[in-house]
Amino acid sequence: MRIEAKDLTYIYGAGLPWERKALDGVSFSVEEGEFVGLIGETGSGKSTLVQILNGILRPTAGEVLLDGINIFKEKALLSKVRFQIGLIFQFPEQQLFAETVFEDVAFGPRNMGLGPEEVSRRVEEALLKVGLNPLQFRNRSPFSLSGGEKRLVAIAGVLAMKPRVLILDEVTAGLDPKGKKEILARIQLLHQKEKATIIMVSHDMDEISALAQKIIILKGGRVVLSGTPEEVFSRGEVIEAQGLALPTIPKLFYSLKQCGWDLPATVLDLKEACRLIKKELTRASG
Ligand code: ADP
Ligand code: MG
Repeated sequence: MRIEAKDLTYIYGAGLPWERKALDGVSFSVEEGEFVGLIGETGSGKSTLVQILNGILRPTAGEVLLDGINIFKEKALLSKVRFQIGLIFQFPEQQLFAETVFEDVAFGPRNMGLGPEEVSRRVEEALLKVGLNPLQFRNRSPFSLSGGEKRLVAIAGVLAMKPRVLILDEVTAGLDPKGKKEILARIQLLHQKEKATIIMVSHDMDEISALAQKIIILKGGRVVLSGTPEEVFSRGEVIEAQGLALPTIPKLFYSLKQCGWDLPATVLDLKEACRLIKKELTRASG
């Protein structure tokens, strides 16, 4: 499924004294099977944007096209879009509510009007996809789980609706390093094995640079940079001028280049970075 955002603008409280423009002419596209990273500091408009993409918020101006069709054109279309574009909200564990993991994950598919057998099958499948053993987890209370497990249950709840696109809003925020790693590994598997189209929102450049094929950087509701990780992170001067931090390795390369080192504009891979630095050191001492 191809997503096209065209000139999206969103104003909270339009016409009121506290009116606030959260998005200002945002355009981009996401291809079928692509892994897109959406980066920006707090308040840059990321959550507003992803809620428009799944039809929860209606843009003040602009369009969202799914395979060429404007999702805001007809009401009937919008309810379908919410099942097709699965959105995992920021702090999704706040939305866990049922007594058992099973009931929680079953909520979405039941809402779609599926029968009990199909619901059961989907819950099981979804739990397996996020690496939670259904036998072990289905009867547990969501509140007894670790932070990372709660997030995985929330992701399973969306996967159980079999969306064609998965959007994750700051899905690792507030987790410990182990929980983060586990979630990121699962998301990577969903992309590689299930061929899921993924839009991952984050303010963590390292996390995004390791996974995304395309990066969009938002600032103050506008796209300031977009492209492949190599394209985006080779623009160190633009990123730093926007008050954003580069990922660790590109930041090191950018700093070394500013000190006069003869290095490529950017490198993302640690091994390659080590090789180039060694080479430059040998050259300098030779
Ligand atoms: P991000 O997810 O990047 O932190 P948001 O999309 O949440 O950004 O917010 C973008 C801007 O819109 C911010 O200035 C924020 O204060 C404002 N905003 C977000 N939600 C609301 C709301 N419900 N009412 C009013 N303003 C809001
Ligand atoms: Mg947000």
